[in-house]
Amino acid sequence: MTYQAVKFDEIHVDRPEYTDVAAEFAKLDAAWEAAADADAYRRVIHDWDMLERRLTTWGNLVDLRFNQDTSNADYKQAREYSDELKPRLTDLAVRMKRKLIESPYRGELESTFGSQAFALWEADVLAFDPKIEADLVKESKLDAEFTDLLAAAKLQFQGGTYNFAGLAKFHVDSDRQVRYESNAVKWQWFADNVQQLDRIYDEQVRLRTAMAKKLGYEDFIGLAYKRMKRVDYGQADVERFRAAIREDVVPLATELRRRQAETLGIDQVMFWDEGIFDPRGNPKPQGDHDWMIDRAKHMFDAMGGGLGEFFRLMDECQLMDLKNRDNKAGGGFCTDFPTFGLPFIFANFNGTKGDVEVFTHEIGHAFQGYSSREQPLVDYLFPTYESCEIHSMGLEFLTWPQMDKFFGEDAERFCQTHLLQSLLFLPYGVAVDHFQHLVYASPDATPQQRHEMWREMEAMYLPTRNCGDLPHVPMGGQWQFQRHIYLSPFYYIDYTLALTCALQFWVRSRADMAEAMESYVALCKRGGSAPFRQLAASAGLVSPFEDGCLREVVGQAREFLDINR
Ligand code: ZN
Repeated sequence: MTYQAVKFDEIHVDRPEYTDVAAEFAKLDAAWEAAADADAYRRVIHDWDMLERRLTTWGNLVDLRFNQDTSNADYKQAREYSDELKPRLTDLAVRMKRKLIESPYRGELESTFGSQAFALWEADVLAFDPKIEADLVKESKLDAEFTDLLAAAKLQFQGGTYNFAGLAKFHVDSDRQVRYESNAVKWQWFADNVQQLDRIYDEQVRLRTAMAKKLGYEDFIGLAYKRMKRVDYGQADVERFRAAIREDVVPLATELRRRQAETLGIDQVMFWDEGIFDPRGNPKPQGDHDWMIDRAKHMFDAMGGGLGEFFRLMDECQLMDLKNRDNKAGGGFCTDFPTFGLPFIFANFNGTKGDVEVFTHEIGHAFQGYSSREQPLVDYLFPTYESCEIHSMGLEFLTWPQMDKFFGEDAERFCQTHLLQSLLFLPYGVAVDHFQHLVYASPDATPQQRHEMWREMEAMYLPTRNCGDLPHVPMGGQWQFQRHIYLSPFYYIDYTLALTCALQFWVRSRADMAEAMESYVALCKRGGSAPFRQLAASAGLVSPFEDGCLREVVGQAREFLDINR
């Protein structure tokens, strides 16, 4: 594959018309039927892959533009067009995939392209049928409704108007009163909009369940695992992992919260204290956006492994949109334009240490995508999510020795906090996963019952949480801010599985940074050419599903944080 580096504003793909794409597929079909040997089949797969790259590039660009400005009517219209078209494109692709997996040449083709592609295509085939096309369009519309609703929030605080990303910096203010009051503003918005939020989710849950039933699943959970392309682990593995978190991490988290209260000089960590670990306030990056980009160049140059060259390319080609502004969608993500072999990262900087974390995280994704650009299939450019997040969270830990470039003397304090928050994230992450299993197992539950389910999860995984008299959260409403639950169902355990792997990179980097970096870069290059367990094993990582895996990592963390009691 040869790519040519272009600037972001030169990235363009003509809007596809369904009839044109269908004609291209018909041509591929004819070539497939006429193929006389394995080479001819390989050529068809290659041509189809080029087409998929073009369609993916177009779709990703449309999504990105909408996220960059949710108030822009043209972007919105393009997104609506894409939402309508995508299920019809999926139909065409799935028909092709069905042919490939049923091909008598499958063995030979697997030896060229690897068996993972066939496993992924099998999952795709089981997750789609033309009879759910209209439902998928409806699902996209509900997703957009949720994104719009949150992006349009105008939150008044201390005489200013903020969106959620802007307000978030006050949630980690060193002044406890500011933390409390800014949280009150945030959650009052949720209390005011609870009916809309409940209605959107209720419709999503019912719609997703209906789709699953049409495809022959008992409930949405089975379909969701296929949609997430989990090809080498299932519900029982995930359940075991959650049990290990309850056993090995929840007690540690309880201990960490007690220590946090001690450090902060308060009786108890309340909901509005959860994100702060030092009475002086969390460490902050010592400059603004442009300064950080400059520091990042130095950081990645110092790390080697091709990171420096890669980051310069990202900067020069303007493949980053990191500043917070009005009407920009919340969150951070990495997307890509496979026709051009280029990734793009999106974030909302707000002046907190989270900027550095989100930044290294998304660069981790982007670096992996770029490193995999020579993989033979678009399906291999990124692995499935639980593996993807190893690259992002892994880089967060591998950049530790460079953190003085952003935090100066506070670098050590930053790293301590980063580790603490990572450990505290594990119970929260599995709570989000467990919650969704409960929700989709009882799709007829009322919104009120769903809030009860979340409270049950908080009691199980976050037993120290105390929401005081804040609006909305005490009745079990916190999950409604967790956008994955609305937009990417069951995409969450992935973070905890990956973090368990990333923490192993952390342990190894402390013993031998060069070895850890080498192994990390090699993993990035492997992209999505293998399923999760194989990828992890190839990098010398112990699978999170293996008994005792968490105990080992947690033991190392305890030692580092000096809590061996
Ligand atoms: Zn990520």
